[in-house]
Amino acid sequence: MMIRTTEMTYRFLLVASLIFAPFVCATPTETIKQNGLELNLFYGKRSTVNAYLFSDGKELILLDALDSVDDARQLKILIDQQQLPLKQIFISHGHPDHFIGLAVLNRAFPNAEIVVASEGIKQELIGWANWMTERGWMHISMIPKSEKAPRGFDYERLIKVTSESQLAFDSGKTLRIDRGNLPTETVHYAMLYSEDLHGLFMGDLASNKVHLWLGEGVDTQSLENWQTLLAVITKRYQSTGVTIYPGHGKPAPLSLLREVSQYIDVFKFAIRTGGNQDAVQTKMMALFPDYSESGYLPFGIEQHLVVQTAKADGH
Ligand SMILES: [Zn+2]
Repeated sequence: MMIRTTEMTYRFLLVASLIFAPFVCATPTETIKQNGLELNLFYGKRSTVNAYLFSDGKELILLDALDSVDDARQLKILIDQQQLPLKQIFISHGHPDHFIGLAVLNRAFPNAEIVVASEGIKQELIGWANWMTERGWMHISMIPKSEKAPRGFDYERLIKVTSESQLAFDSGKTLRIDRGNLPTETVHYAMLYSEDLHGLFMGDLASNKVHLWLGEGVDTQSLENWQTLLAVITKRYQSTGVTIYPGHGKPAPLSLLREVSQYIDVFKFAIRTGGNQDAVQTKMMALFPDYSESGYLPFGIEQHLVVQTAKADGH
């Protein structure tokens, strides 16, 4: 009897979850509509990473694919709700938190072209996929296809490189691609600019109240390049009322870029003066108490303390 009750309860829950899942579970999003272009902002649940869904009323273009299978499934629901074809999935840069959802989305929307803005981004992305896989951290659906993993995700075949200067809807609406800047948070990356929304989609060049990734791939020169580029962008868009759409955290006015640059200054100072790994970590957390993703800190601190120590030793 006990077993039957449990089984019935289980069945009821299963059926209920199937019926109500699309309504109950869809992650809250925000929608912005301007000049005939609609933007749905999708905030990942597992981490602070964002995905952005653009619609011209006839087709959809997605920017970034989130960092978990669960979040990607929620994103799929949001896309389904639009009842429009997904034309492209554009990945801003090669960090795993922006592409782990690709297998789920590719299965759900096989006609959507997966696009990056340069061969460098594609190869960096594949490099990170291998890095994650070697450490046993990669979700099984995104393990790169190989002789050892014949059913793995076929990055080489599925990811297309575009050399166009923009992503274009058939209606003529466009998202301008900004690529080819010096290494910053990654070596290769792209930003999008929407004239209709007057919005700059900066990937991980900007985060809002989220610790920056300053680990693997980010050297001292990258930090300099990053701050220079933030200053250049600030100058370019000054007094235009542009909205910054960051890779992590909420959208913000242009002044966000000053905050990001100040964060880098503080990080550099903490590395120079903070002492050992733990002390620097404690200092950064005390200075940015309301920032998420403190899990990024040890990677960045380790990376930059080593450089600092090497310098001090005269190497
Ligand atoms: Zn990221």
